[in-house]
Amino acid sequence: MKSGKVFLVGAGPGDPELLTLKALRLIRSAEVIVYDRLVGEEILEFVSPDKEMIFVGKTSGRHTLPQESINQVLIEKAQEGKQVVRLKGGDPFIFGRGGEEALACKNAGIPFEIIPGITAANAVAAYAGIPLTHRGISQCLTLITGHIQQGEQLPDLNWSQFTSPNQTLVFYMALSTLPQIVERLTGHGLSPQTPIAVIENGTLDRQRTVVATLDLISHEVERAHVQSPCLIVVGQVVALREELQWFEQLSEADMVSVASGMSTLAL
Ligand code: SAH
Repeated sequence: MKSGKVFLVGAGPGDPELLTLKALRLIRSAEVIVYDRLVGEEILEFVSPDKEMIFVGKTSGRHTLPQESINQVLIEKAQEGKQVVRLKGGDPFIFGRGGEEALACKNAGIPFEIIPGITAANAVAAYAGIPLTHRGISQCLTLITGHIQQGEQLPDLNWSQFTSPNQTLVFYMALSTLPQIVERLTGHGLSPQTPIAVIENGTLDRQRTVVATLDLISHEVERAHVQSPCLIVVGQVVALREELQWFEQLSEADMVSVASGMSTLAL
């Protein structure tokens, strides 16, 4: 019997053209695809219908499959001798629990590979026209999770480190804790006038961006009915968007259609 293997594959932030060639090849060649809710529909269209598809994300009203059960699915399928692609939004090692799944494989003696993906921070900021670093404006970039576990709890961090100038903060999974984040940052001395951007559905044609200052952002986000997934960028670099925004202004003709863009890839 041939031996199975698990590939932990980053699917990028949504725009299917931001998949890596390696990810695309593996998606096409795997026998089993284990995926969750952040993997875009267009990306799943690359999977041929004869493949086994296992959804491990949240379905309406239900909870996400516990991590241990996901690990178990990966291990069992690999033990059956299958080539398993565990497809994850963005990058597997950035707030993606890829490390946990790799450890589970390791402990079970299952060989694995890890294929990086473009993480939301760099992709979504680029599509929003916000350089995460910029000479003279920001020389430091921090990626932060907006909540831990299932609740609305902020991570236990030294928040005063985030208030020095010349840095950019990027928050993942932070929509529900945005008011608390603003409170922490301003409470530790970051100016309430600091620019902040909240970008919904980044890199997809329905991308929307709300820009304000820290003191006004919660109100603006509520007013615009911003939904998940969204990425939050804090820092003076956000102001550059005024001149650098490009994606949300593209005309339909400018938007390279996924179909034509992808079909040019002779694979
Ligand atoms: N591993 C993923 C992150 C998973 S955590 C990565 O590397 O990107 C999920 C969070 O990622 C979301 O709550 C949101 O904050 C962010 N995110 C992922 N895709 C996004 C998108 N298309 N637009 C905005 N935020 C996104």
